[in-house]
Amino acid sequence: MKNIILTGDRPTGRLHLGHYVGSLKNRVRMQEEASYDTMYVMIADSQALTDNFANPKKIRDNLIEVALDYLSVGLDPEKLIIFVQSQVKELTELNFYFLNLVSLARLERNPTVKSEIKQRDFSNSIPAGFLTYPVSQAADILLFDANIIPVGEDQEPMLEQAREIARSFNNIYGKTFIEPKALLPESKQARRMPGIDGSAKMSKSLGNAIYLADDKKTLKKKVMSMYTDPNHINIEDPGKVEGNIVFTYLDVFSNEQSFEKYLPDYKNLDELKDHYRRGGLGDVKVKKFLIKVLEEELDPIRKRRALYEQNIDQVFDILEEGSKKASAKGEAKLREVKKAMGLDYFTDQKLKEEIQDKYK
Ligand code: ATP
Ligand code: MG
Repeated sequence: MKNIILTGDRPTGRLHLGHYVGSLKNRVRMQEEASYDTMYVMIADSQALTDNFANPKKIRDNLIEVALDYLSVGLDPEKLIIFVQSQVKELTELNFYFLNLVSLARLERNPTVKSEIKQRDFSNSIPAGFLTYPVSQAADILLFDANIIPVGEDQEPMLEQAREIARSFNNIYGKTFIEPKALLPESKQARRMPGIDGSAKMSKSLGNAIYLADDKKTLKKKVMSMYTDPNHINIEDPGKVEGNIVFTYLDVFSNEQSFEKYLPDYKNLDELKDHYRRGGLGDVKVKKFLIKVLEEELDPIRKRRALYEQNIDQVFDILEEGSKKASAKGEAKLREVKKAMGLDYFTDQKLKEEIQDKYK
């Protein structure tokens, strides 16, 4: 079987550490391993409009920001296809057919969408486009025959929905789609990075993120303001590591080399955690260590971003080129879909003959 990878991000803001460990790192790793036939990376501007329809400027402004973030982490347009959702019109058409295969009750049960609805200020008027975005996301995946989807944990329900739609379509119209699988990060904490305020998910929409493009000063300020253990008031007090965001980040980003380099008094994170639990270790010391660890990861990303910021023309070309390639693939697949559904009236010679026979 071919390995086709598809992922995407909504251009609702710059990308942050949650995206980085939840999905981008897996994409870069697979790119380096060349362990796929095609990788598509989609900037989901149409999906972003489902809850930002009144603010198209936000989406327009963030399109290039997300593209710059992609290039800055090392996604290479020579090795994968970066495209813009709204520029591939076959996606909309496929979404329209898929909408028939899903019930309203099923859409209302999606746990990620449920919590997103709570977070957003829709009051009682949830846009139909928002409620149905998991269907459009199924179209994004299935149009490209993607089987591997590197995502964070919040996307599991979307993958389940996509599989259901694929199954249902295949049952009714004949085998047309592959059932896709999520590729989650190995580290449990990375599957759903918490925000710096301690809330369950770092998210662009919640204002609790460390962005890949944050400068050194901003990074420092954010880490210093991170949620720790509210009962750890004096250095001597025993502290809690569970739910302490600074330690969650260290779980994801630090390794023994980081200790050797920046905090040689400890061999590894377990030793540091033990000391914190016993008491006698201050938050500031742990936070300063985390800043160094994150700096090491983010500095090369910032530098690469700065280069592309000086070449915006090139970034637009990459997106346009990628969108053309994605459209070509989409067109071919949609032809197959319409044929399966019997909507190929003008290319199906047999249909004409049957009708001619009928009226003979
Ligand atoms: P929005 O609030 O606009 O939905 P977001 O921050 O949730 O933005 P998305 O563009 O919806 O970002 O998500 C893009 C990808 O990043 C998805 O694969 C998602 O699972 C992953 N992702 C987003 N936030 C996190 C996080 N905090 N931890 C792990 N993965 C994440
Ligand atoms: Mg999201």
